[in-house]
Amino acid sequence: MLNAHGDTRRPAPGSTLTADVAVIGGGIIGHSIAWEAKRSGRSVAVIDDAPGSGASWAAAGMLAPVSELHYQEEELLELMLEASGRWPGFAADLAAAAALDPGYITTPTLAVGADAADRRALLDLRAVQQANGLTVEPLTIRDARRREPLLSPGIACALDTPADHQVDPRLLLACLRQALAGPGAAGTGSRGSAVPGAVGGYAVPDRATGLLWQDGAVAGVHLAGGGTVLARETVVANGLHVAELTGMPLHLHLPLRPVHGDILRLAVPSHLQPLVTSTVRGLVRGVPVYIVPRQDGTVVIGATQREDALGRNNGSGSGAVSAGGVYQLLRDAQVLVPAVAELELLECTSRARPGTPDNAPLLGRVRPAGGPAGAQPHPGRRSAAASSPVEGLIVATGFFRHGVLLAPAAAAICRELLDGVEDSRWAPFNPCRFSAAPARPAEAAATRMNTKETA
Ligand SMILES: Cc1cc2nc3c(=O)[nH]c(=O)nc-3n(C[C@H](O)[C@H](O)[C@H](O)COP(=O)(O)OP(=O)(O)OC[C@H]3O[C@@H](n4cnc5c(N)ncnc54)[C@H](O)[C@@H]3O)c2cc1C
Repeated sequence: MLNAHGDTRRPAPGSTLTADVAVIGGGIIGHSIAWEAKRSGRSVAVIDDAPGSGASWAAAGMLAPVSELHYQEEELLELMLEASGRWPGFAADLAAAAALDPGYITTPTLAVGADAADRRALLDLRAVQQANGLTVEPLTIRDARRREPLLSPGIACALDTPADHQVDPRLLLACLRQALAGPGAAGTGSRGSAVPGAVGGYAVPDRATGLLWQDGAVAGVHLAGGGTVLARETVVANGLHVAELTGMPLHLHLPLRPVHGDILRLAVPSHLQPLVTSTVRGLVRGVPVYIVPRQDGTVVIGATQREDALGRNNGSGSGAVSAGGVYQLLRDAQVLVPAVAELELLECTSRARPGTPDNAPLLGRVRPAGGPAGAQPHPGRRSAAASSPVEGLIVATGFFRHGVLLAPAAAAICRELLDGVEDSRWAPFNPCRFSAAPARPAEAAATRMNTKETA
């Protein structure tokens, strides 16, 4: 397959690349972490044979901490607000580094309900949002239609959500790739942090097969093509595909599940431009639908949430589009904006979101079996204290519905971890939170074998 860098070069079989940081997975999360690491002066290798082709390819790009608030997810709200606060600086720095615009738009989001029950549901949600200090203001239908004249006059309610914005995920990925291929951190000189042998100084167009261990620490990545990337730190950011990697600590349980989403891209004819000026998030008879305008005059309509057999992942995380999903999206979007019927359908895409049981990411360093208190050292470990994490390993997956929004925060948190700093605010997202307590003897033995096998 031709990769996103326009070539198919893999490191020669058996060859070894060396980087400060190896990132497995080139979605929005992996690329964002890689760019932040590069900005800190580190050399970075992003390993992916199909970068940008996973969930990140389908994302609508809503940066919506307020609309995405769900009951009993206050810890996630704190992370979403942290990310939202980082977005203006992240987008500006990235645009400057890449000399490209990531399509970051700060127009407010409009929440609309189709009928009286939808109105009640949105007002109930508003009460929760307000209780959490968030701003959501009701608008009259007349005011809403003054802002968005193509909204149906039949809608039951409209609410203004000023803090929810958007970015174009495909442009964002292009910017991140451009920035990663550009000069390194200030003071390191042009391409000062480039990885010799990597495409553009950072990309390794190959599939990771497993972690490489040395002396009880993760020391890099084995590649499907037979090569190796040696790195002081390895970040596992390959979305739903973590289970494919050998050499992951055996006590570490990462309960990821695919939650498929269908999403449509449509061209707006010139006489209907702009269809909407800001993101419209609706509830239509209890079912969510959104219309997101892009700077290029197209709109994105999404997104269903399916956990059915249809669209089961293939290797790149893509899946089959559901006919019922497409029907539902077009039907409900037309209830809110009838002119949707006049648009040209350009693309139907389906991808799986990496879901977790608590809808929150798995982000951080990995504690040895037994957890922080009274933990046993990792088998083979030589010198670290019992409760210190597995050396050289960071996990960053499970971003579910929020990976685009959370990208700047995930990148900043990983950079802190690389610098040896752990912020206790993010402890609730530690990747070990679903893992069993102490390893059974057999498991410890298996971990030892695993460590040996992959070294
Ligand atoms: C329809 C839809 C709409 C969405 N809308 C939004 C939205 O509006 N806002 C928002 O914030 N989020 C949204 N999301 C969620 C968001 O897309 C994800 O949370 C985010 O893209 C996850 O990024 P990622 O980098 O972790 O995973 P991915 O984008 O899936 O990237 C994983 C990468 O890992 C690579 N990989 C897999 N295995 C290996 C291996 N062994 N070796 C090397 N590479 C490997 C894959 O090729 C892929 O490129 C949406 C998701 C979907 C499906």
